[in-house]
Amino acid sequence: MVDIFENTILCKKCNMKMKPARLIRNGFDMRALLCDKCGNRIIHPSDEQEYNHFLNLKSKTFKVKLRLVGNSYAVSIPKEIVEFMKEQEKIFDDMVNLCFEDVKKLKLMFN
Ligand SMILES: [Zn+2]
Repeated sequence: MVDIFENTILCKKCNMKMKPARLIRNGFDMRALLCDKCGNRIIHPSDEQEYNHFLNLKSKTFKVKLRLVGNSYAVSIPKEIVEFMKEQEKIFDDMVNLCFEDVKKLKLMFN
């Protein structure tokens, strides 16, 4: 299937060819097209959909329970979060990095 961004897309205001660009929001990298003349931009529809999916997940707070497993504590990461992360990463590693972000906050990094 040919990606729509492989076509020449004209700015509806200026009738000028839009140039490819990257748009990064919340660490989310999206393909976009930009009009140099008026600054009009179009975000790739599938990237925008994924970004909205991310915003939806980001707005949720999951209550998860600490469980003692041997000498460590385990928390369950909701399936929808892991599935979203798997979609984002071409190679999904089941090893994650965990560190303190501040005194009451832990950070979990997936890559
Ligand atoms: Zn324009």
